[in-house]
Amino acid sequence: MIVFDLLCDAGHPFEGWFGSADEFASQQERHLVQCPSCGSAEVRRVPSAARINLGAQEPAQPAKAPERTPEMEGKDPFAIAQMLYSRMLDDLLTKTEDVGKDFPAEARRIYYQETPVRAIRGQATEQEHDELVEEGVPVARLPVLPTGKLN
Ligand SMILES: [Zn+2]
Repeated sequence: MIVFDLLCDAGHPFEGWFGSADEFASQQERHLVQCPSCGSAEVRRVPSAARINLGAQEPAQPAKAPERTPEMEGKDPFAIAQMLYSRMLDDLLTKTEDVGKDFPAEARRIYYQETPVRAIRGQATEQEHDELVEEGVPVARLPVLPTGKLN
């Protein structure tokens, strides 16, 4: 069923329920659609303003897609993900200080404010990593890149 807003030639608005738009057209043609107020069969459809009005509520903003570059056009999603990931890593590499094998000790010094707070990167063994996590030191592990960029 669909509902149409209708208006008779005397200006009476009313609603009509029909199985389809074709059914309305056919009934209208045979003057079967009549105004409930005055009985006029001269009716026409008016835009259903109330039903297409979505109200004040803004539609939800779509999540912002990662920035794409022309070089990504036509690439498969996996290749694009790799590019975005390596760009993120490049960004990370330029904004962090490489402390190498001193990473666990340096991460602790930063955590306990014995040295200026800054972003660092380096290596830690599985055990060192776990110890840092247990101490509450905020560390994040990065998967090792195939290119070996992070050693
Ligand atoms: Zn009427």
